[in-house]
Amino acid sequence: MRLLLVEDEKYMAEAVAQVLKKNNYTVDLAYNGEDGLDCGLSGIYDIIILDIMLPKMDGISVLKELRENGIATPVILLTARGAIEDKVNGLDSGADDYLAKPFHTDELLARLRALGRRKTEPLINDGILKVGDIEFNPHTFQLKCGSYETTLTLKESQLLELLIKRNGMIVSKENIIEKLWGYDTDAEENRVEIHVSLLRKKLASVDSRVCIRTVRGAGYALKTAKESYKAEKGY
Ligand code: CA
Repeated sequence: MRLLLVEDEKYMAEAVAQVLKKNNYTVDLAYNGEDGLDCGLSGIYDIIILDIMLPKMDGISVLKELRENGIATPVILLTARGAIEDKVNGLDSGADDYLAKPFHTDELLARLRALGRRKTEPLINDGILKVGDIEFNPHTFQLKCGSYETTLTLKESQLLELLIKRNGMIVSKENIIEKLWGYDTDAEENRVEIHVSLLRKKLASVDSRVCIRTVRGAGYALKTAKESYKAEKGY
């Protein structure tokens, strides 16, 4: 599990990170809201631990921005003890849990385990996968967006299903090869690129705003929000 901890009190952040690492989490640190947002937008984290009081950009704004960009990574907010509005605001903005500071690391570890267990598949409705403006039926391979509809090939369907289920997180080319051709295969990475390109065309053909983001050197991720983190970051 890869965690992002966004906390400006460096001494505390490093102490918490050490405990997390001892418990087999991979931890990246960000010391202000802007850096936290940049890291969070990569979509590579399993859980983000986000302090509310941060320099450059507060935690609630970071959280809102992440959600607006389609990043569904579970977020634990760190609030000041007793700050009820923070909790309400935080949960309204899409936080999954909160923890009042100061906290014992055992409590944080328990919350992380709980969130890890709660691995959600909220997109699934009667077997239909819904994300952004599309509906996809993995049994019939039908892809719908508004009044447009198209049928995917088996490989395109497997690829889209994988991307949707990863909920905006990066899927590596290796993962895609395993999913589409199995472990025991000599399929090469350029075949992944071909199917990604075909699926992109299908998404465009139904006029969807959902797109497949290329994350250089890492893989692909589904992006649902309209505007362009893409353009800013040069993806
Ligand atoms: Ca702080």
